[in-house]
Amino acid sequence: AEATSEKLVELAKRRGYFFQSSGAYGGVGGFYTFGPQGASLKGNVEDAWRDRFAVAEGNMEIDAPTIMPEPVFEASGHLDTFDDMLIECPECETSTRADHLVEDNTEYEDAESLPIPEVEEVIAEYELVCPECGAGLADVAVENFNLMFATNIGPGDADPGYLRPETAQGIFVEFPRLKEYARNQLPFGVTQIGRAYRNEISPRRSIIRTREFTQAELEYFIDPENDEPDLSSVEDVSVTLYPASEQNSEDGDELETTIGEAVSEGIISDEWVAYFLGVAKPWYDAVGVDMDRFRFRQHLSGERAHYAADCWDAEGEIDGNWIELAGFANRTDYDLSKHAEHSEDRFTVFRQYDEPQTVERATVDPDMSYLGPEFGGDAQAVVSALETLAERDRTAFEGDTVEIDLEDETHELPVEKTGFAVEEQTEAGEHILPHVIEPSFGVDRLVYTVLHHAYREDEVAGEERTYLELEPEVAPMFVGVFPLQNDDDLEAQADDIVAALRAEGLSVTYDDSGNIGRRYRRQDEVGTPFCVTVDFETIENEETTVTVRERDSTEQKRLPVDGLAETLAAIREG
Ligand code: ATP
Repeated sequence: AEATSEKLVELAKRRGYFFQSSGAYGGVGGFYTFGPQGASLKGNVEDAWRDRFAVAEGNMEIDAPTIMPEPVFEASGHLDTFDDMLIECPECETSTRADHLVEDNTEYEDAESLPIPEVEEVIAEYELVCPECGAGLADVAVENFNLMFATNIGPGDADPGYLRPETAQGIFVEFPRLKEYARNQLPFGVTQIGRAYRNEISPRRSIIRTREFTQAELEYFIDPENDEPDLSSVEDVSVTLYPASEQNSEDGDELETTIGEAVSEGIISDEWVAYFLGVAKPWYDAVGVDMDRFRFRQHLSGERAHYAADCWDAEGEIDGNWIELAGFANRTDYDLSKHAEHSEDRFTVFRQYDEPQTVERATVDPDMSYLGPEFGGDAQAVVSALETLAERDRTAFEGDTVEIDLEDETHELPVEKTGFAVEEQTEAGEHILPHVIEPSFGVDRLVYTVLHHAYREDEVAGEERTYLELEPEVAPMFVGVFPLQNDDDLEAQADDIVAALRAEGLSVTYDDSGNIGRRYRRQDEVGTPFCVTVDFETIENEETTVTVRERDSTEQKRLPVDGLAETLAAIREG
């Protein structure tokens, strides 16, 4: 049988959900345009995300540029390491992601975490071939390919810039200002919904892997020693979990449990991550992801970024494959420490002690001019190196010698020459780098999953019908209004109803073309929850009534026009 995805992609194009961009010029891989229905559905999903993850959580939202200068990505590490493994066919020159090639054709499930030589070995061992032309790839080298799109800022190439590969950096980079808006009080969260760009080697599965896509990200900044989540609102949320231990075992299986139990049994080790999984699950349910085809999967140890202590993905099932919809990670102070290292700005937050504390601080004699000749005459550099060392590690001064790094050279200094002393000081608090919990959602993949999980085929009065069982909250069109026939009176009454519905804030489509059955089918395929038909009974009777048809059951009821808009608006509000 034809997979739902194939039918869905066809429906999406026909009904204006999404289609490949620039079709007039042959189309280009990995870029999609959301048509009128798709843009509306996507907007509704984004609004629902904003309501839940920004407004209801009391977090701030920002909107940063999509192009950022090179130093940002030097600091974040993207310039060096945001790579995928590429293998280019020597015959047809098609580029393929080497890790996907391995995963699709061998029993390796996580080839991304293997080093390149090992991937090359697997390709040779399994005699893997080019998916495009079938040429052998056994002797072909695998290379790293950086996924960022590069550009120039201003004329010339003096100022390289990059299209951001994730929205998160726009938040991290502005942390020195954002912490001020939060009045320097942890914890606080910052969200952003926006475009991200990745020059994917092989975009595939329509809008599931594209080169330009929308992310909705939350960066939640905490004091790792003092802030704990309040799990009471999420502990009873039931979840399907697929922990790493189960993935690693022969007959491993998913677990049905609750957030509270998973935390107390240590299945989810990070309580902050657990909290956001607990928030996310009912939200995914509300926007229309089928909870029987949804789970949280823990990253395997090789898959995890080195800084992430515990990391889980939300996954949705599409035609038998599990697709990553979002990632939830505790990124520790990794990002902020990188920017603190590379930038002059202050990325720390002041942590006030409960009571002032007397602490021992190492100090160094600032007048170190006598050290001049030994260190190329640069006494100031020696002093700052020593000060850094003193701040970091007081015990470094308690041996016989101190090692200091200066211009790539390590010098040994007798401790009595450093002017080192330990002094008692009273301090009100200390500057700390916050840790960050990151729920990172992909919007396009979610839109695809919502459509896929809503796709239905049935039979109505002996005729096959396709419809989308979309949640009223996200459906792009809420109601269709049809005059039964071309008739001035019917059309005038229908116009009035359209105006009344729109005044209630409902999205309405007016359709007077084709027979009524065809108009219903059209709205069924769009996923419009209700259709209102104005017929002669409407205008001839004293009490004006219309036929209201419900999408899923196709049941029809006669309802008075009076109060109709309010009734439907109440349904939309849930
Ligand atoms: P993958 O392994 O699938 O390439 P990733 O693990 O690199 O994805 P993240 O960096 O965690 O993805 O990005 C966060 C979210 O952004 C993902 O969960 C996904 O929903 C979305 N996303 C990432 N890459 C793409 C893409 N090329 N097209 C559409 N959505 C994407």
